[in-house]
Parts: sequence; structure tokens; C-alpha cells
Amino acid sequence: MPAADLVLKNANLITMDSSQPEAELVAIKGDKILLVGDNEALEQVKGDKTRVIDCQGRTIVPGFNDAHCHIFSFIRKLLSFDLSPSSVSSISDIKAAIHYQAQNTPKGEWLTGTDYNEFYLTEKRHPTRWDIDEAAPYHPVILVHRSLHACVLNSLALSLAGITQETPEPPGGLIHRDHNTGQPDGILFEMLGYIREKVVPPLSDGELLKGIGLANRHYLSLGITSLQDATVTNDFGRWQTFRRFKDTGKLRSRVSMMFGAEALYQFQEQGLTLGSGDSQLRLSGVKIMLNEARGQLQPSQSELNRQAHSAHQAGFQLAIHAVEQSTVKAAITALEYVHRQLPQTGRRYRIEHCSQCPPELLKRLSRLQTVVVTQPPFLCYSGERYLATLSASQLQWLYRIKSFLDNGLIVAGSSDCPVVPDNPLVGIYAAVTRQAESGQQLSPQECISTSQTLTMYTVGAAYASFEEDTKGSITQGKLADMVILSSDPIKSPPKRIKDIRVEMTIIGGKVVWEA
Ligand SMILES: [Zn+2]
Repeated sequence: MPAADLVLKNANLITMDSSQPEAELVAIKGDKILLVGDNEALEQVKGDKTRVIDCQGRTIVPGFNDAHCHIFSFIRKLLSFDLSPSSVSSISDIKAAIHYQAQNTPKGEWLTGTDYNEFYLTEKRHPTRWDIDEAAPYHPVILVHRSLHACVLNSLALSLAGITQETPEPPGGLIHRDHNTGQPDGILFEMLGYIREKVVPPLSDGELLKGIGLANRHYLSLGITSLQDATVTNDFGRWQTFRRFKDTGKLRSRVSMMFGAEALYQFQEQGLTLGSGDSQLRLSGVKIMLNEARGQLQPSQSELNRQAHSAHQAGFQLAIHAVEQSTVKAAITALEYVHRQLPQTGRRYRIEHCSQCPPELLKRLSRLQTVVVTQPPFLCYSGERYLATLSASQLQWLYRIKSFLDNGLIVAGSSDCPVVPDNPLVGIYAAVTRQAESGQQLSPQECISTSQTLTMYTVGAAYASFEEDTKGSITQGKLADMVILSSDPIKSPPKRIKDIRVEMTIIGGKVVWEA
């Protein structure tokens, strides 16, 4: 056996590999795992240059894999000011925050506030253009709702966007208006992507570099060694930006990138297909957004079927965004259509979110062997809102996990960050306890064990992107991605799991972060 570069010994290794679930020592050579065993194995692998870390009984798990997130939205969030419930509790707090930013920014430059949540504001309403105008009349301002499905512009920003009383509703979007005058009040639904692409100036190189630096540190400090970017506006240009971040070492966590159906031809022209790239940056599925606006599916069922069919025919994995029961049903109908037209086993259709899933849809999902990519942190961060706004029958089928697993489905864990915070240990806590921040519990019959949840964030997430042969468990020959934790989540009381910290993050055998 060759000498190892790095050995971690005296560890409580939770390998997530059923053939060897526990171990004391892991040896690494290059970017891969050389051996997993007990402390006595040290003699076999220790050479003159081997670095040996004594873990003193601390717990090691495979690196966390966030199966659905939005890296560039997160960068924008890191470069903007925070309006989440932890920073503001009323519209006057929001005005004060905007006023402060305006005083410290040259007139005419954009100000961006993120993560406001009207449900937690005293006034229980969205801020309007007129609220923002009072605080910053000379800067274009955009406030982004926590969900990313709404944003608010002040008057200057609205005029830069060319939105007036005469502007018709865009397809799939909504320009909210004052009831009495019909004037746009600044609140826009499902238009954030458009505003960011076409109205707000793109991030400068300097901003991008600052943002990716902050994001990189953040991911490593949370032990997130793999990210699956599910952004529908991803295209070949975005792929090249990721490539640049990778080649210059700015983003250490591995990335698997989905992209929108419109960009399909760009990747085909470049000769890229499912799995193209390398272990640092990998091309994965086609992301299709499916929403319901004013009682109508967007896109329509036939258009959805068409998009899904062409992506499938081009050899890509399908990842359909579906939240409400009606959209989950339409997504399943499209997948069944594709499956009938081009039956092909092993394509691993994904449904992103799958938030509302009654029994008849669950049966159809399990026939298709669909991978469900779920977000347990929503139970924690949005639980109070769900309890206040959903009916008992909707709550019953909300963010099911145990039923999916009991029906043989593979479930991958994720955050949808920046929609909610992405600490995987909070996600694990949320799936195990299903408790809202208020302490109220949501559909407790769907609780799963800590070990099942760890599987979702490691093995399950790797399966969702066809990477289970190289990632997801601490197994000889796999990539050496792992984290040392401050305590053992499986032995920890469930309510304490969210307080566990990551003490060291290792990617490809390199220690990339230490507390
Ligand atoms: Zn998302």
C-alpha cells in the first residue's frame, strides 16, 4: 500500500457506507480515500511525509452536498443589506436601513436589500415604492422578498425599468397596483429574474470577486463540499464564469450545474452533455420552472411536455420545479409523457421541492422512481407561516419525507439558499424534529431519523446528480471530501443538532477550512 498524504485517526467515523458504517481511521492519498479502518491500520499507510491528525474521538462525516441552491443569487445577497426578520421587524425599520445605505452610497447607484418577509413585519404587508421613496429618492432601490418570487422597486427604479401605469402585465408576472389609482405600487411578482437581467447593472468584476470570496468561506465553514446549482437562468456564460472561479481556486466546493431549457442548444453546440466537466465542475440536468399564476399553469401542460421531451431527447436529466399540488401533478404528468414517448431507465427524473404531495401523486412518483429534492430548512424558517396560511389537508401533505422514503424514493437534502439559510445541520435538525422556529411541529408523522437525514445530505444528494460512485460516503477510492464535527449528530438529542459546528472541512484531501 502506498504511503498516505493525510491520516485522520482516533475518529468517530460515520462513513454512510453500509458495508463499513463505522471506523476509527481514514487515510487519504491525493484527492481520494486510500483506506478506511481502525487505528491499527496507521502502520500500513504512514510514510515519512504523512500528516497525521489525532481527532481525539471527534466525529467525521462525509462532506455535505446541498442538492439545490442558487450560488449567484447568494452572492448578490452577500453584497446587499439584510432585511430578514432577524434585522428588521417593521416597515419603518426597513426605511431606516435604506436611509442609512443611501447616506453611504453615491446618488444614482443601486441599493439592494434582501430577504424582507412581510409575514413577520408589524404592518403585515409588503413595503411600497412610496415607502422607499421617503428613505431614498435619489437612488434606484430594489428590495427582494425572501422567496425570490417578489420584489419592490422605488419610483426611480420603476422608471429605469420603464414600468408605468400603461405597462401591461408581463406573461407569468404581475405588476401590483394601487386599488384606487391603478398606479404600480412598486411590488412586482415573478419579475425578479427579468429586473436583475435587464434593469439592474450586472455585478462588476470587483463585486463578483468579493462576493465569491465571501460565498466560498461561507460554504466551507458549513462543511458544504458540493453544491448543485438549480438556477433556471444558468447558461453557457454562467458555466464559463464557474470555470473561471474553479481554475483560480476562488470556489473550492464542487459544483454541479443545472441550466434552463433555453440554453440547451448552447451546450449542444459546445458538444457538452450530462456529466461533462470534471469533479470540480460538472454539467447536470435541465431545470424547468413550473408555476401557477392566477390559476393558470406557467408554462402550459403541453408546452411543459414539449420542453421536457426535448431535454430528455438531448440526453439530459430533467429537474422540474414544482411546489403546489397542481404543479406537482403537472410535473408528474410531463414525466409520464416523456417516459411513454422515450422509455429509458436510469434517467433519474428530479422534482425540485415537491412541497404538496397527496397519496395519489406519491404513487405515480414512485412508479417513475423520481428523485425528490427537498428543503427541510423551510419547515424551520417558514413553519409559522405554513401553519397560519395552509389548510389542515395541505399541511398533511406538506414537505413529506418519511412517506417518500417508505415508498422507496431517493430523497436528496438541500436548502434553496439564498431563499433560506443553508446550514446543513439546521436542515438535519429540521427534518428530524419538523419544528418551526416557534417550536410548533408540522406533520410529525413525516419525521425521520438523524441517520436517514444524513443520508439525504450525502448519499442521496450524490445520487441525485449521478455522482454516487465518487461522492456521498467515506469509502476507499471515493473523493476525500469530509468534515469534522464538534459532536456526533446521531447521538445528539434532536433539538441540539442545529448547534453542532463544523470544525474542519476537507475537499479532495486538502484541509480547506478550520474553525
Ligand atoms: Zn430554487
